[in-house]
This record gives sequence, C-alpha cells and structure tokens, in this order.
Amino acid sequence: MAAPDVLIIGAGIVGAACAAECAREGLSVTVVEAEMIGGGATAAGMGHLVVMDDSEAQFALTRYSVELWRDLAHELPCDAEFAHSGTIWVAADQEEMNFLPAKSEYYVSRGVRAEILDARALAEAEPNLRAGLAGGLLVPDDCVLYPPCAARFLMERAQARGAQLEIGKRVAEIECDGVRLEDGARAQAGIIVNAAGSAAARLTPGAQIRPRKGHLVITDRYSGFVRHQLVELGYLKSAHSVSTDSVAFNVQPRPTGQMLIGSSRQYGNEDRRVDSAMLSRMLNRAQEFMPPLGGLSAIRTWTGFRAATPDKLPLIGKWPGHERLFMAAGHEGLGITTSLATGKLLVDEIMKRESAIARAPYSPERKFDEQRGH
Ligand SMILES: Cc1cc2nc3c(=O)[nH]c(=O)nc-3n(C[C@H](O)[C@H](O)[C@H](O)COP(=O)(O)OP(=O)(O)OC[C@H]3O[C@@H](n4cnc5c(N)ncnc54)[C@H](O)[C@@H]3O)c2cc1C
Repeated sequence: MAAPDVLIIGAGIVGAACAAECAREGLSVTVVEAEMIGGGATAAGMGHLVVMDDSEAQFALTRYSVELWRDLAHELPCDAEFAHSGTIWVAADQEEMNFLPAKSEYYVSRGVRAEILDARALAEAEPNLRAGLAGGLLVPDDCVLYPPCAARFLMERAQARGAQLEIGKRVAEIECDGVRLEDGARAQAGIIVNAAGSAAARLTPGAQIRPRKGHLVITDRYSGFVRHQLVELGYLKSAHSVSTDSVAFNVQPRPTGQMLIGSSRQYGNEDRRVDSAMLSRMLNRAQEFMPPLGGLSAIRTWTGFRAATPDKLPLIGKWPGHERLFMAAGHEGLGITTSLATGKLLVDEIMKRESAIARAPYSPERKFDEQRGH
C-alpha cells in the first residue's frame, strides 16, 4: 500500500462518509475494511434519518446531517430506498401529551417543522395504532433509507475520486505513523481515522465506547399498514437507561411495503445471537401500541451493536496524545443519520477550518461526567 494522506479503518457508513468527504477535498485516501462495506452495525441499523432533541449538541448534529441527506437524496441510487416518511412521536397518555407543546416549540423555534396531532388526527394518520392513544408530534421532514446500500454508494463515490479500498484486511494495531495489519504488513499514512464502529476502542485504548446490543425484526410486505416512522415518546427513556435492558415501540415503513420493528437496548451482552426473551419483550411492546401487528408475518430477525459513549454523542476529531490519529466512532443509535455530518466535521478539522456547527461537543478530548454512568 502506498502511504495515503488519510487511512480510514472501517467501511461502515461512517467510514464511507469520511472517505467520500476526504476524497472530495482532494486528499488521497485508503480505506481498510476487515469484512465488507456496510456489513457491521450499518447493516443492522434501521435507517431512520431523524432530528433528535435529546441535547443541543445532538440536535445540531442530527439536524445538520438530515439536511445533508435531504440534499443528497436525488443522487442516491434506487436501492438506497430513500423515502420521506416523517416521524410521529406517539404520546400514549395525557401525561406524555403534556410534553408535546415544549417538544414542538423546541423544533419549530430552531427551524424544524413539527405539528401536534390530537387523538383523532393520530388515528387518521395511522389507523393501525390502538384506540385511546393521546396524540403525537409529527416531524414531517425526517426520512428513512436502506443503510448498507447508502454506505456502498458513499464508498463508490470516494473510489470515483481516487480512494483505494482494501477489503478483507484487519487492522491489528494503530502505530505512530500508520497501522499494522493482522497479517503483519504495515501501512503508513499522514492521518489515521478510526471508524471501526463498536470495535473502535480495541484499536484506541482509552476511547470510551462500548457495544450496545439491539434487535430488529422485518415483516413480509403489507403496503400502507404503517405510513410514518412511529416512535413512542418513551423512547428517550429507553435510550438513556444505562443500567437495565430496555425496549421501545419503534416501527418503520419500508418502500417495499415491509416494516421494520424495533427496538431493544442491552449493555454487557456481546452475544450476536437473537435473545428470544428480549425479542418477545420488544414485540409485545410493539403490539401494545399497534395490536394488528400480531397478525402479520415476520420474515427475519437480527441483532447489531451500537457503539455507545457515556454522553450519547460520537467522538469526531483529533485523538489526544497521538499526532496522527482522528476518531470517527461512537455514534450509538444515530450513526446512519449523522454519518454525513461526521464526514464534514472530520475534514473541517483536518483542514483546520470552521464547520457549519460547533465541533467542540463531539471532540474526543472532552471529559465525560461520571455521574451519568457509562
Ligand atoms: C438495531 C439497531 C438499529 C439502529 N437504527 C438506527 C437508525 O434508525 N438510525 C440511525 O441513524 N442509526 C441507527 N443505528 C445506529 C447505526 O446503525 C450505527 O450508528 C452506524 O451504522 C455506525 O456506523 P459505523 O460505520 O460507525 O460502524 P459499522 O457499520 O459497525 O462499521 C465499522 C466497520 O469497521 C470494520 N472494522 C472493525 N474493526 C476493524 C479492524 N480492526 N480492521 C478493519 N476494519 C475493521 C467493521 O468490519 C465494520 O465494517 C442502529 C443500530 C442498531 C444496532
């Protein structure tokens, strides 16, 4: 391998987005991938491109990135299955409904369209939800896509601009001027980018990233059964739970007429196998919100590992204590959404210029608050 300006470890959607952006900048790029393009968490993900309001930093990154996806939409190939589904955050009861005016105001005051639906409007929008739900918040500009094909598209874009892809080569160690591969070969590079997803901490000891297991189910084709990405408002509670396993109602219509049903979150479980108890819990939760789901056929179930950081924000930028190492990892449940913005922020930092949004909240040099638990 000739020494490139940038060597990226991992061809998941984050590594692919970084490769496309570095190549666009005119940097020479090599991507080293142990298995296949988009075959890690990217293949397991739901592909919901969602603006999230959990924190200002998460909002800024997700909004920036969803805008980038929307701008790119007309260039994506058909098999990336990009669709303007919108999101409805479903309020189960009046207590949850009471949160919606503030949530709506948060989005609208920052320029993101949002509309409160009462019980009747929710039922009209999604007739298969159970009766008696209190309402919801429609965020119409959120989208969905099929992540592995989107990753392949980004990688091809990088390759069209001269990037080299080394498939089937696993990085064993990051050294001071490059990487050592498992077969003993060494590759030098001006800059090394660790985009190895949930495996990133193995290559960068000290990076606070740990795997968080999730399950998903895909159904047979039932066109029109669900029209928007539906997420229960309690989802954030599930995403925040650091000590216990959790499930939340989260259903996505695919353009094929299929539905993805999620989602579960587990720390400390690195077993790839489907856990039938967790799967039942997740499907029971989905049926509580949408009882007719129980009569549909599921055709496949799988698991994947999110790369979780203590503060739910990714590590993007220079790694302290190593002259040449940059991180692009730790995107937890939002890496499909935030991949494009990650590529932009990474290249801005490499080129030492301002970004469209502040980079500091995602800096790998930030300190984590021990109180929040890891
Ligand atoms: C169940 C589930 C649902 C999700 N739903 C969504 C969603 O709806 N929306 C959203 O935005 N996000 C979602 N996510 C999160 C999203 O899938 C991830 O954040 C994203 O795919 C991370 O991409 P990545 O490129 O960082 O990691 P990965 O896709 O895991 O890619 C990392 C790559 O690095 C390679 N690699 C690892 N170690 C080495 C090594 N030593 N040498 C060479 N190569 C190496 C791996 O083979 C892999 O291909 C979900 C995740 C899960 C698990």
